Amino acid sequence: MVDPAECTIKVMCRFRPLNKSEVERGDKYIPKFTGEDQVSISGKPFMFDRVFGSNTTQEQMYKASAQKIVKDVLDGYNGTIFAFGQTSSGKTHTMEGSLHDPDGMGIIPRIVQDIFNYIYSMDENLEFHIKVSYFEIYLDRIKDLLDGMYCGCTERFVCSPDEVMDTIDEGKSNRHVAVTNMNEHSSRSHSIFQINVKQENTATEQKLSGKLYLVDLAGSEKVGKTGAEGAVLEEAKNINKSLSALGNVISALAEGSTYVPYRDSKMTRILQDSLGGNCRTTMVICASPSAYNEAETKSTLMFGQRAK
Ligand code: ADP
Ligand code: MG
Repeated sequence: MVDPAECTIKVMCRFRPLNKSEVERGDKYIPKFTGEDQVSISGKPFMFDRVFGSNTTQEQMYKASAQKIVKDVLDGYNGTIFAFGQTSSGKTHTMEGSLHDPDGMGIIPRIVQDIFNYIYSMDENLEFHIKVSYFEIYLDRIKDLLDGMYCGCTERFVCSPDEVMDTIDEGKSNRHVAVTNMNEHSSRSHSIFQINVKQENTATEQKLSGKLYLVDLAGSEKVGKTGAEGAVLEEAKNINKSLSALGNVISALAEGSTYVPYRDSKMTRILQDSLGGNCRTTMVICASPSAYNEAETKSTLMFGQRAK
C-alpha cells in the first residue's frame, strides 16, 4: 500500500460562456474571477486548485488539469478524472468535446493522443498493451456500451488513437439506440471511460501497469419538489444518492480519514482502486455563469470545496 498522504486530490473549476438563450434573455454573468484559484458568486468566495473562466480553450484546460495524470499512469499509478455539475454546465464538452477536431477535443481524446505519442517515442525494448472499456451506470446498474448488455464489461485492445476514437463513437451510438431522448438520458446516468496501460521492458522483464477512469457524471441539479414522481423521482433519488456517496468518499480521502465509505454506491465500489491509495484524482467542477442558475452553481461549487 502507498502512504495515503501521497494520494492527491485536485479540484478544478470551469465556467462555460453564457449560451445563446441566456444571452437573448439578458441573463447576468455572475462569476467574478478574483485570482487564479478563486471565484466569487454574489460576494461569496470559493477556492480551488485552479479556476478557469469562460474563454479557456480546450487545450489550456487539458494542460492545466489533466496532462500530468498521463505521466502518472505511464509511471504505473491509477487515476480518476471526474466532471461534476448540473446538466448543460459543460461536463461532456470538457471530458470529451469534439473527438475529431484538434481544437475542440476535450480531455479524453487529448489523453489518448498523449499516451500514444509517448509510446511511439519509446525505444523498442518496451512493449505496450492498451485496453479500453466504456460503460455507464444508470439506476446503480452497469451497462456495457461496447457490448450493449447489462453484464461484466468488454475490454477492447487498441493500437492507435483513431481506434480509440472509433471505440468511443461506437459506445456513444450504443447509448443512443437504447434511449429516445439522448440529452435527457445522458444527464441521468454516469458515463465511464477506462484506459488501462500495461508495459513491459522485454530486456529487463520489468512490468508496469496503470489505469485511468474518466467519468462524466450525471447532472447534479436538484429535481423540483413538485412534479417529480414515479420513474423520474426514482432516478433523481438514485443520482442524488450516488453523487453524495462520491462526495463522502472524496471528502474522507481529502481529510485522510481511516474509514472511506467506498461500498455505499456502485460507482465508488468500481472506482475504489483508482481513488485513494495509489492514485491521482482530479475533479473538474463545471458551472454555468448565468444568474438564472445561481443556486445550482453555488451548490456545485460547495460540492467541489468538500474535496479540499
Ligand atoms: P453537460 O454535459 O454538462 O450537460 P455540455 O458539455 O453538453 O453540458 O454543454 C452544454 C452546451 O454548452 C453544449 O452545446 C456545449 O458545446 C456548450 N459548452 C459547454 N462548455 C463550453 C465552453 N467552455 N465553451 C463553449 N461552449 C461550451
Ligand atoms: Mg453531458
